[in-house]
Amino acid sequence: MLCFKKYAFLMLIVSPFLMAQVSKLDKEYYEMFSELLDESGTEVKKVECPENSYNFKEITLVSWPNGNDKKIELSCDDVLPLGDLLKKVDSVYSSKFKVNSSKGNLKIALLEKLDNAFYADQYLALIIPKFLVLNKPYRNPDLLYPAIIHEYGHYICTQNYSIFQNYAKAKFIVNAAGELLADIFSVLYYNDGKIIMKSMKDTSLLQNKDFNNMKAFSARDFTNHENQLSSIMPILNNGKRAVIDNFVFDDHNYFSPMRYYLWNEYLGNPLITKKFSKATIAKHLSDRIVEFLSKKENDTCEFYTKSTEKKCVSIFEKNNRDLMEYLEKNPLR
Ligand SMILES: [Zn+2]
Repeated sequence: MLCFKKYAFLMLIVSPFLMAQVSKLDKEYYEMFSELLDESGTEVKKVECPENSYNFKEITLVSWPNGNDKKIELSCDDVLPLGDLLKKVDSVYSSKFKVNSSKGNLKIALLEKLDNAFYADQYLALIIPKFLVLNKPYRNPDLLYPAIIHEYGHYICTQNYSIFQNYAKAKFIVNAAGELLADIFSVLYYNDGKIIMKSMKDTSLLQNKDFNNMKAFSARDFTNHENQLSSIMPILNNGKRAVIDNFVFDDHNYFSPMRYYLWNEYLGNPLITKKFSKATIAKHLSDRIVEFLSKKENDTCEFYTKSTEKKCVSIFEKNNRDLMEYLEKNPLR
């Protein structure tokens, strides 16, 4: 996830089904893909879509000359199921957040050589691996959609809180909180604390990846009691480099203890979920976390060194504990 605001231009649409091919690509947009993937011979094809029909305003296919993509005539309909998904997500959260149905500026890009989806804030674009969307054997909403809602959660965060803009320059703790919140939008949507972990595991299986990553996946499991602070700290204090890297220096997993806490206190707690809407719960947690971040000193570590290891582990503990205490003091009523 990277960042800067792009001016959205207005396109007049005669028919909702008319899609204009754009021959002259936005230079910066193209450069981002080339830079991101560091490949020559990249082909970029952009199709504009009537936003009121699709919930996104254009799609882009980025492919390589030797790939099979030349056979694919991409149309907005190819990713229509994603637009339908985003409309449903909007309807869950729109009472409390500015979402895409009110902004209408989102783009979708499909990239051939990409393992993971991400949200590029400066282009207002969800960037998604092509194989997850277009290829039939992989076209499984159960695998793909939780990850898409996580990325869309980044979109919601940047559209509603300035602290999450400019991801590339943001403090580590802000990025870590952004990853936590993006997960929360997906977990609440599905009422399933394991949904992110399942989605990561299944999409990795599709790519025939090895499973050294299981620890990283379980760090995203909100229901996993091994993620609670009291369980993690003895392991971190005994200090295996790989484990410390996984929790203390990875922004996706930094707030794993918070995930377990939030599942018990909010997201999986019937006293809360029966009383409040998903939008209200998400808004309360987002607002409190943003308040917490704005008051927080930048006491995080971004890179492992043997000499700072102990200090970084104790800062990790403090940040997770402080955030829990802040939420305890400011409950949802
Ligand atoms: Zn993310």
